Amino acid sequence: MPTSAELHQRRSAAVARGVSSMIPSYVSSAGGGTMTDVDGREWIDFAAGIAVTSVGNSAPAVVSAVQEQVAKFTHTCFMIAPYEQYVAVCEELAVLTPGSFEKRSALFNSGAEAVENAVKIARHATGRQAVVVFDHAYHGRTNLTMALTSKVMPYKQGFGPFAGEIYRVPMSYPFRDGLSGTEAAALAIGLVEKQVGAANLAAVLIEPIQGEGGFVVPAPGFLAELAAWTRSTGAVFIADEIQTGFCRTGSWFACTDEGVEPDLITTAKGIAGGLPLAGVTGRAEIMDAVHPGGLGGTYGGNPVACAAALATIGMMRELDLAAAARRIESVARPRLEALAAKHPMIGEVRGRGAMLALELVKPGESGPFGPASDPVAAAAVAKAAHEAGLLLLTCGTWGNVIRLLPPLIISDDELDRGLTLLEQAFNQEETPS
Ligand SMILES: *Cc1c(COP(=O)(O)O)cnc(C)c1O
Repeated sequence: MPTSAELHQRRSAAVARGVSSMIPSYVSSAGGGTMTDVDGREWIDFAAGIAVTSVGNSAPAVVSAVQEQVAKFTHTCFMIAPYEQYVAVCEELAVLTPGSFEKRSALFNSGAEAVENAVKIARHATGRQAVVVFDHAYHGRTNLTMALTSKVMPYKQGFGPFAGEIYRVPMSYPFRDGLSGTEAAALAIGLVEKQVGAANLAAVLIEPIQGEGGFVVPAPGFLAELAAWTRSTGAVFIADEIQTGFCRTGSWFACTDEGVEPDLITTAKGIAGGLPLAGVTGRAEIMDAVHPGGLGGTYGGNPVACAAALATIGMMRELDLAAAARRIESVARPRLEALAAKHPMIGEVRGRGAMLALELVKPGESGPFGPASDPVAAAAVAKAAHEAGLLLLTCGTWGNVIRLLPPLIISDDELDRGLTLLEQAFNQEETPS
């Protein structure tokens, strides 16, 4: 087997520079809460491929479902010759997503594609164009989703012009705005009323807990007030649960924790154990507003990906991975809080379930956005963690947030080892070398 160094050389001559990787090591296998690279080094996985492999890599139930399906047929295109697996995934989505109303779903390949389609559906159903999104939002890298995404570097720089009729308003960000959910909702709604006009509004699109934007958890009530107001204008409330969904936050969907029933909900990441699948699910009258043939794509709802999703959902149900996410929080949060008590650079510990974050600041300094961010410290901690064998991601508009996204099936021992490596990375960062 070639070494990582050899593969890196080949990569430099063959792979576009714009596609980058966090670590210089190449994977040979992964499973449970660990990954092994081609040089034989083992890593603790606190990334899960960005909240994707919640059931673990190569989970046996997913592997056998995929193998069985791949041996039967790999692709017919649902738009040509349909198959049961697609229908069964849509049936599951109707049951699992919040709201007991009649629902329909459509399946796609990636999160960005699901978000694009949710916007298409909302515009078609309302006959309106304006879409409201939030500061720090991340919705993808395609043309429409770049417009919906907040951060310019690296996601948007040089890639314009962007799609029109997208309006951005402040996100509830308690650590930085100090507002209650009601106050933050009133601010956002007031801006939309004056600067967009409720009558022009097709949709309000929001991540119930922001992902790439920094694991920002809105103040309680913010989502519910926004959803109720959106509905009162005749617009569509879309929850982007691509990162938060499928048990990550300790419920099947994060909106449930806030008692919110979105009109449309986008899913991807954790849905299929690592195979590419995404969905838009929502109120039947909104979803069915689109004419036959208006939605689709060659690979959308590929049968192998659908088989993987059915096995993944089965595992989540049998093993109660929502409870597993809550258990991960109950182990990790006290340790993160103890770490924060020791290191003043940790400005806040936040998140829910197995979606936890540390926001790093320069103690005692503040600026126009509240506490001064410390992206240099976040990068240094992540680097120290990587050197010690812990896969750890950063995020946030200022790049100063360390995020934990372990697979939900991680063992107690692996979780403990990962947290110990994280603690050591902080200790190392604060000891001048
Ligand atoms: C990852 C992500 C997307 C984009 O999904 P892709 O599969 O990368 O296109 C959209 N929204 C949220 C909230 C995400 O976390």
